[in-house]
Amino acid sequence: MIAAVHSDVLIVGAGSAGSVLAERLSADPGCRVTVLEAGPGPDPRVAALTGDGTRLPLAADSPVIARYSAVLTDDPARPAELVRGATVGGSGAVNGGYFCRGLPRDFDGWALPGWAWPDVLGHFRAIETDHDVAGPLHGRDGPVPVRRAAELTGPAAALAAAAADAGFGWIDDLNGGTDGAGPVDGIGAVPSNILGGHRYGPGEVFLARTAGRPNLSVLPVRSVHRIRFDGLRATGVEATGPDSATVFTADRIVLSAGAIGSATLLLRSGIGDPDMLRDLGIEPLIEAPVGAAFADHPEWLLPTDWASGAPGPALQAVLSTADGIEIRPYTQGFAAMTGAGEVSDDRPQIGVALMNPIARGRLRLLSADPRIGPEIRHRYDSADGDARALAKGVGLVREILGGTVRLGDPAWATSQHLCGTAPMGGESDSRAVLDERCRVRGAQNLWVIDGSVLPSVPSRGPHASTVMIAHRAASFVTAG
Ligand SMILES: Cc1cc2nc3c(=O)[nH]c(=O)nc-3n(C[C@H](O)[C@H](O)[C@H](O)COP(=O)(O)OP(=O)(O)OC[C@H]3O[C@@H](n4cnc5c(N)ncnc54)[C@H](O)[C@@H]3O)c2cc1C
Repeated sequence: MIAAVHSDVLIVGAGSAGSVLAERLSADPGCRVTVLEAGPGPDPRVAALTGDGTRLPLAADSPVIARYSAVLTDDPARPAELVRGATVGGSGAVNGGYFCRGLPRDFDGWALPGWAWPDVLGHFRAIETDHDVAGPLHGRDGPVPVRRAAELTGPAAALAAAAADAGFGWIDDLNGGTDGAGPVDGIGAVPSNILGGHRYGPGEVFLARTAGRPNLSVLPVRSVHRIRFDGLRATGVEATGPDSATVFTADRIVLSAGAIGSATLLLRSGIGDPDMLRDLGIEPLIEAPVGAAFADHPEWLLPTDWASGAPGPALQAVLSTADGIEIRPYTQGFAAMTGAGEVSDDRPQIGVALMNPIARGRLRLLSADPRIGPEIRHRYDSADGDARALAKGVGLVREILGGTVRLGDPAWATSQHLCGTAPMGGESDSRAVLDERCRVRGAQNLWVIDGSVLPSVPSRGPHASTVMIAHRAASFVTAG
């Protein structure tokens, strides 16, 4: 074991949230920030994979993702593979580039001090430069560039034309939510952080702003596997690699290892359900509902006989309805999008996703050994209303597209939006792991800031909201 390295702030994970925190916190030259990242740094091969916005780098030999086994439904059991970005930039370095804010009602609905729409709007503005829409809702000089397709092509154009014929309106700006309202019930071009074929993930654009800061170190590790405590005060973390086991100590410790990584780290450190932990030989420290009720956006995929669109972002446009359905005309077949090689009849699919599902999933540790992945059960079939809503969404797709396309039977899938494994909540909220300032309840000097903290899954994909949360919560860490 190598001797401890001490920092003012230690961040575990340089993903979508961790990169933003690294930039915000190291802006103070007096604050020594260390970031520990399990995946490879931006060498030329990695940069080529994560920068290419025309592909999701998820092929079998991809060096920039971690894979987890999950079960989407219990009856029958539908196994699925989850992927997460595992490199500097995290999932934001491998994702579809859809950069849609959650709706104002999502944040207002949390009813948490400091997180209402007027509190978060300034942070949504600060993280972006919107190249299409100006005005008080949008940022002009933030790190993440945002652009919408000027002209829809391929499957998006086909859906947009059919939706217009069916009476759906055009939404000019899917990020145009204002107090109490959100742009729903219509089709609109997806705000995207893929411009000119390049994916501008938060890892790239936020860390670029830190160049030359001597007080920031982004260090490679094989894995951080446990938090160290003195009583209830977090004092450091234990990590392996790249060469040996190391202890990193800090005055403030922030977990930004993503909804799976942060939850498993908390559990292995004794924060969770005491019975489960004891069964695995882990000494319980703090009783907390870690992983007890995570959320995701269930999706039914329908095969089509559409021709593939030109390589580009996975989605140019989505149709969203007031009852929480998002219809996604994928640009290409999944094999082409992920670089999985030649697959016969690899056609674009249509996704029907439920954006405000009732079902909640469970994540549990199977072993204290960090090399063994957790059990992840989405339990998508645990709420009858969800399957009914998805079936209604499929009916809507058939109605809109009529005879213009041949549609196959839908199959269960996941949007890969798993979040909320360590949610924030008020003092009396028995589901909450964190307080409204992202501090782990019951512990000192320990924050979680990433997609784990979401009290409910947003009505849009979680990426823009997660980046906003990191920008908002950086000041919570500074304040201590
Ligand atoms: C394939 C894919 C496509 C997606 N497409 C979209 C989309 O188009 N739009 C959208 O809104 N959302 C999308 N999402 C979801 C979105 O990208 C994520 O919700 C978001 O990036 C999560 O950010 P995060 O900071 O919580 O975690 P991440 O960005 O996943 O970062 C976690 C980081 O921690 C590191 N880490 C984990 N465990 C450890 C450990 N023990 N020690 C050290 N480091 C560790 C990881 O390597 C990673 O870099 C997609 C997700 C995936 C996987």
